[in-house]
Amino acid sequence: MTQRDNLKRIAILAGDGIGPEVMEQSRRILDWFMAHGLHEVAVEELPYGATAYRTFGAVLPEASWQAARNADAILFGATGGPEYDAIPAAARRGGNLLRIRRDLDLYANLRPIIAIDSLNEASSLKNRVLKGVDLVIVRELTAGLYFGEPRGIERLPDGSRRCVNTHSYTSAQIERVARDAFELARGRRGQVCSVEKSNVMESGAMWREEVEALRGREFRDITLTHMLADNCAMQLVRAPAQFDVIVTDNMFGDILSDGAAMAAGSLGMLPSASLGPIRADGSRQVLYEPVHGSAPDIAGRGIANPLGAILSLGMALRLTMERPDAAAALDRAVRAALAKGVRTRDILHDGMTLVGTHAMGDAILQELERG
Ligand code: NAD
Repeated sequence: MTQRDNLKRIAILAGDGIGPEVMEQSRRILDWFMAHGLHEVAVEELPYGATAYRTFGAVLPEASWQAARNADAILFGATGGPEYDAIPAAARRGGNLLRIRRDLDLYANLRPIIAIDSLNEASSLKNRVLKGVDLVIVRELTAGLYFGEPRGIERLPDGSRRCVNTHSYTSAQIERVARDAFELARGRRGQVCSVEKSNVMESGAMWREEVEALRGREFRDITLTHMLADNCAMQLVRAPAQFDVIVTDNMFGDILSDGAAMAAGSLGMLPSASLGPIRADGSRQVLYEPVHGSAPDIAGRGIANPLGAILSLGMALRLTMERPDAAAALDRAVRAALAKGVRTRDILHDGMTLVGTHAMGDAILQELERG
């Protein structure tokens, strides 16, 4: 084995707002695992965000970018906030998260959504609807409507305006994200639901054909169903437990995953992983981040829920560090803390122990110590 096969390089980009606050708790938990048998991990915290701009003149300084490019896993906090108003547009673009995802070709965005019993009261959905919800939305992240050309707004000869965005996919782009969804389903309940609008869009019809063909060639053991995106939106709130893995394009994935997130009870709870292509040495780069943003309204107050970042670390333990045992231990610790009524402000807290960001980290560490 080469050194690369052994050593997992972890780059931390904590970023803006509550990013550094929630990341601090992830780091404490990562350190705990490193002190308890997680070896062959090299961790580097890198300047990134509005603070980096003030110190280095770049939102993503070149040294940070090079280290992130070479990392196996990037633990990302959050980006954005009012400080960016004072940063020139070109500098903002240089450190933009969309640019990072695109340049690293992080094309498959995995968003697990699990309803934890002790948090049911925080969800807008009924208990019976939440029973058994454990699904992953696999969203294509680097193509489709958000990237297609031509795009823009033009002035027409009559003085009115016309706007254009292009929804474009190649077979290769569909196939690679669908392959990830099928592989993922193999380690779960073996069901993939592919979502598009084949009734009104050619891109949807081709999406369906390509996914079906891939299943026929390589994944006959997986049950594949197809669903129109509008019906899927309804099914996700009517009966979300019916889904195992959903695979869909960039825009539908964006919308459906935010809607489905409500089953978990809080935006602050949700982790994600964005996977790049498999590299020549067999490794794969992944960016892990909580789904929430930099929450400028609560930044600096020590009250942000760190569980989205902590559960993202859990995904890194499983996928990059190949330690499903550690990931399962972390999952148990989070559930145990929540079952004891430990809550941050963003999760409903009637009669519960309401704690800040650091104390939530303490509670998880205590549960890890208990084992
Ligand atoms: P947001 O996710 O930052 O906040 C939405 C609401 O949820 C706010 O009321 C906030 O206080 C609350 N919230 C979010 N995370 C929380 C947590 N962990 N604990 C407790 N409460 C939490 O979204 P927004 O307000 O639309 O955007 C704020 C900034 O974040 C903007 O600059 C936006 O561009 C950026 N943003 C970044 C990302 C990212 O880094 N991936 C994602 C979304 C938004």
